[in-house]
Amino acid sequence: MLYELGLLSTIAITGWLALDPLLSTASRGRSMALSAMALAACIWASAELLLQRGGSADEIWVLRRFLYLGACALPVTWLWLAFRAARGFHRSSGGWFIALCALPSALFYSCLWWAPELYGDWSVVPPKRGPFFVANVGWTWLLISVGIVYFGVAARRLRQASSGAFPALVTAVMVPMVGNLLYLLGFLGTFDPTPILLGVAALLLRVGVIDAGLASHLPFGRGDLLDQLEAGVLVSDMSGEVVVANPASHRLLREERLVGRPLDALVDRALCHPDRSIEVRRFPLRTGMGEVGAGVVLTDRTEAEHAARRLQLAARLEAVGYLTAGIAHEVNNPLAYIRTNLGQLGDLAEALTKAEPGTELEPELRDRAAEAGEVVAETREGVERIAHLVERLRSFARHDPDDDRAAPVPLVRAVERAVSMARVGFASDVIRVQAESTPPVLAAESQLVQIVLNLLVNAIQASGEDPDIELAIAPDAGGVSLRVSDRGSGIDEDALPNVFDPFFTTKGPGQGTGLGLSLSYDLARQNGGRLAAHNRKGGGATFVLWLPAAEADVEPQAG
Ligand code: ADP
Repeated sequence: MLYELGLLSTIAITGWLALDPLLSTASRGRSMALSAMALAACIWASAELLLQRGGSADEIWVLRRFLYLGACALPVTWLWLAFRAARGFHRSSGGWFIALCALPSALFYSCLWWAPELYGDWSVVPPKRGPFFVANVGWTWLLISVGIVYFGVAARRLRQASSGAFPALVTAVMVPMVGNLLYLLGFLGTFDPTPILLGVAALLLRVGVIDAGLASHLPFGRGDLLDQLEAGVLVSDMSGEVVVANPASHRLLREERLVGRPLDALVDRALCHPDRSIEVRRFPLRTGMGEVGAGVVLTDRTEAEHAARRLQLAARLEAVGYLTAGIAHEVNNPLAYIRTNLGQLGDLAEALTKAEPGTELEPELRDRAAEAGEVVAETREGVERIAHLVERLRSFARHDPDDDRAAPVPLVRAVERAVSMARVGFASDVIRVQAESTPPVLAAESQLVQIVLNLLVNAIQASGEDPDIELAIAPDAGGVSLRVSDRGSGIDEDALPNVFDPFFTTKGPGQGTGLGLSLSYDLARQNGGRLAAHNRKGGGATFVLWLPAAEADVEPQAG
């Protein structure tokens, strides 16, 4: 009675497990293997249950054949599930291998139809077992043992994934083995507990392998969405091996085989990609049972970075463009006296060539010749000034990728570079710099210069006729802050929330592009800092740039 009850519950459980993949949204693969195994156990248990009720010899033979359908299919489905559970350890899904293993099982089963006597005689109690029975059992145990090896691999991984899943898997593997052995050795008489124990095993495997949700089994690790995504997606299990890789990840990493490889190595590869800039975002994968693996999203940022660089260059040139009037003035001043001086030197040279050789020079000509040295020195100084100015402009407008590298840099140095650019067009007392002693910040210096210059140009433009701009550098909350304050128009309260938006400008066409502040804001963020704006009480605006201090143990930049 107890045995029959056990068989009945097994039929219920295995029947449900066999239908499970149809009902749940979980993926194929492992679930299909489990349901095939559950179906085999269900067939076996049903036949066993009917056999308990007895019947004619013919009926018993029909039921035996039915029973053996389950019993012969079981080791193959067991092996299939074991292969799927240990996926990643084995390169292929084992399809061919499983099909090959199914052939002898099918052969044994067909023997039952055309040579049942070779199987033994079940009409006697205990049944008389024939040579095919022994051979079939031997074959079954061989398949089961290979499956155990693969389950062992899966179990090693599950130990990391979930503490409950590991014992469930070990019990699932051991219980039917022990039960079947005891029965075959004759300890349990005619009661074969194997189908019941296989039902228990299927349930435990469901908990241990499927519900433990090795990362590869997660529903989101699959489907058309992943296949069509432009971003690369890699999913690894707790052992760190990749179990899911979508087509985009193959494209981005230029690798044909990703599944089964260590996730960390692939992440390194993405970060060191020779000609693409790949952004890597990594996150832990969790199910109700806790962490089961890790996910990585790979995004190709190459084009976006090119566009951002082009935009940065445009903003640089815009600042230079605004300073053009001042630059023209700066160049024109020395040019004027260089021209006069060259005229004087030309006249002198002409007069000297006209003078009679061997005669005393006229006093006026002698004085002019004596002054020539000074005129040349003054001219050279003017040429140097122009050359220096051109060099400053060139180094600012030029985009060198090395300039974008973060290194410890004194903020005051970047401020001075920007101020010296801005002063080209304005009287030097218009811009005042107050600097307290501050630690270096970890940033790309050229980007800092760009931010400060943008703030200065805006401050100058907002100030009208009489600019008065103050820059104050001070230590602030674990970093360094720079406050750029002007006494200009201030920012309209309605516009204040939008000033950092791209293309937001209150300036007329041809005067503003609305790029300066949004780029400055992005650059500040890229360097781990912040940029904020507010109006001053007495009129005018203040922009506050905050940057974190560089770690004390970072090598300071030379120069
Ligand atoms: P643009 O200068 O090309 O307009 P920005 O992004 O540099 O672009 O600035 C956006 C807007 O922010 C400006 O049009 C202006 O309205 C406002 N703004 C920026 N700096 C100041 C300032 N110092 N005083 C007043 N308004 C400012």
